[in-house]
Amino acid sequence: MNLYDILAAGFAVERAKPAFLLSDGSAVSYAELEAGAAQIAGHLVASGVAPGDRVGLQAEKSVEAVMIYLGVLKAGAVFLPLNSAYTRAEVDYFIGDAAPRVFITDAQAFRAEADASDPLIKSVERADHHLASLIYTSGTTGRSKGAMLSHGNLAANAKALHAAWGFTPDDVLLHALPIFHVHGLFVALHCAFLSGAPMVWLTKFDDAQVLAGLARSTVMMGVPTFYTRLLANSNFTRQRAAHMRLFICGSAPLLESTFVEFEERTGMRILERYGMSEAVIITTNPLVGERIPGSVGYPLPGVDLRIGASEETGVIEIRGPSVFGGYWEMPEKTAQEFTADGFFMTGDVGRQDPDGRVWISGRAKDLIISGGYNVYPKEIELVIDELVGITESAVVGVPHPDFGEGVVAVVIGVGDEMAMIAECRRQLAPYKAPKRIVFVGELPRNAMGKVQKNLLRDQYAGLFTRG
Ligand code: AMP
Repeated sequence: MNLYDILAAGFAVERAKPAFLLSDGSAVSYAELEAGAAQIAGHLVASGVAPGDRVGLQAEKSVEAVMIYLGVLKAGAVFLPLNSAYTRAEVDYFIGDAAPRVFITDAQAFRAEADASDPLIKSVERADHHLASLIYTSGTTGRSKGAMLSHGNLAANAKALHAAWGFTPDDVLLHALPIFHVHGLFVALHCAFLSGAPMVWLTKFDDAQVLAGLARSTVMMGVPTFYTRLLANSNFTRQRAAHMRLFICGSAPLLESTFVEFEERTGMRILERYGMSEAVIITTNPLVGERIPGSVGYPLPGVDLRIGASEETGVIEIRGPSVFGGYWEMPEKTAQEFTADGFFMTGDVGRQDPDGRVWISGRAKDLIISGGYNVYPKEIELVIDELVGITESAVVGVPHPDFGEGVVAVVIGVGDEMAMIAECRRQLAPYKAPKRIVFVGELPRNAMGKVQKNLLRDQYAGLFTRG
């Protein structure tokens, strides 16, 4: 079934309801969203877009951009969203790779153009395996790859999340995420659509607007930086959060200190979940049951998750209805990333408790090998983050003449480097302790708040080998 029809079955129950509550006080109803999607689908079909053709969109976040997403699905085409910050040269790569039939840079103009076309009433038929969207991975290493997500992948994940997080038509979702990434695009939108719930629609995370928006919301989805920014604002009080039923966090690891501080401030525990472009959401902490800081919870129903040896740290492998079909036009790369029995090797390293709870310790490519020993950065970061004066740390390995790689901690905060190294050596095996600690004002992050360790590795590449 076409994913569009599955989503629309949720919001068509009460079409007059608002889908988007905008900052200027106005609203866009589900009926208007549906009409816009049908018009855009009609326009695409009339322009010669055939099922399976890619339609690219690089535009600022807007209601029209969401109409385009839905219109593309309805027309049976493949939605290709691109980060609005990409430069012309970067966009050229994606256009060359994905060969979109249509590429849209002005969502409002495209929506207006579509007004002249006849709406497409009946969605183009699609089966579960047909491609719905091509999501280019953020590409912190090597070339960015297009993850192929099918109608079946996205529908299965949407239904699983809708159930796991207990969404109902009475919910109001605060949406301040970008919509060129799976988090804001699939996770957030699909949960709202399936329940026909309105969204407080913010084009970006602005403290004042989020605080005002919370008053009208019941659920917020965010990346960890949203939560640290809320906590840094003294207007974010227990009372402000009192009527909220759920705060969800993901896309990057949530610091334990953020989790704890949030609970102290609001009395509520953030629900952390784990996902990626290649599978949307994989694990989640429970809606009812214990949410433990540092753990990403349990695999969603239907997800088979395994890690090399049980209870040991290793690469997380997954199989299930939401796991993507492979990388666009990269059959060899795809084959390398799947096991013979069909599990996708996520590249994330973690472990699983006997009861199924999952803990992530970082990306396999961030593993440091120093003097022949494996060093998992997360283990060292947890120790450093607890030191007085430190807000956050990122541990990387850089070339070292004796050890191959030397452990470096880049930290936000203040302190005495030698004293901190000595403290790490008291708490950790000496080979794990950083050889240098660098103090910075900020860590480099991508749009989803992920620390870009590749940039840190480049920046400090000469720390042990030069002068
Ligand atoms: P992306 O495909 O850009 O969404 O990036 C996916 C990656 O983000 C995953 O492979 C993880 O490394 C990381 N990630 C997502 N959620 C979490 C989380 N809750 N904790 C730790 N890492 C996460």
